Amino acid sequence: MKGMKERLVKKMKLITTVKTLKQGLALHKSSIDRTIHHLRDEIVAESSQIKGSVTPRFLEFEAAEEQEQEQNLEDDRGILLEFEENCPPGGEDSVVFYTTSLRGVRKTFEACRRVRFLLENHKVMFRERDVSMDSEFREEMWRLLGGKVTSPRLFIRGRYIGGAEEVVSLNENGKLKKLLEGISLVESPCECCENERFLICSSCHGSSRLLADHHDEESGNDKMWTRCRECNENGLVKCPLCT
Ligand SMILES: [Zn+2]
Ligand SMILES: [Zn+2]
Repeated sequence: MKGMKERLVKKMKLITTVKTLKQGLALHKSSIDRTIHHLRDEIVAESSQIKGSVTPRFLEFEAAEEQEQEQNLEDDRGILLEFEENCPPGGEDSVVFYTTSLRGVRKTFEACRRVRFLLENHKVMFRERDVSMDSEFREEMWRLLGGKVTSPRLFIRGRYIGGAEEVVSLNENGKLKKLLEGISLVESPCECCENERFLICSSCHGSSRLLADHHDEESGNDKMWTRCRECNENGLVKCPLCT
């Protein structure tokens, strides 16, 4: 009987121990669970914080595309870099075309017309400087090219491209199109001169002379003709927008 009681007590103790152990395990488990929860929360919080700096796939793709476009632009600039740097006034970022509207020398006139046609065909805006209409343009062209050259002469973004022969061949091998990339397209005629390139001088009404006060003792005249300072030798003013 005594032995049985002892066994019972032992068993009871064991049960309590197991119970305590179980409780302890449960406690331990819940603490582990809490830790896991905590860690998970931390991870979620952290990842939502860095979300802004992590680039989603589609943005990565856009960035790559942009980079490629930049590269292409650089390549095109590369073509431009093959040409000698020689910038006409106001030609840093535009197309400047020296031409003549005089039919005197047929070959020159035809060459100018060909280059003009190509530029118009590419629908780009260009500054047209008619050397037969303004001696300043002729001198400007001669100064740029270091001699008494004839038109046409084409400049793109401050670089000298060439005369008719060069421009025609660049058009044929597709390089002209690349050289003209990024130049604004023509949307409407020049708002200032309607593509006439010159305006009739409003000071002298195109006569290029003005009657100014001047007393001459001998003749007794009080007025004399002077050269108008507002315009060129033809009584014309260059269009500020398109020449
Ligand atoms: Zn104009
Ligand atoms: Zn004038």
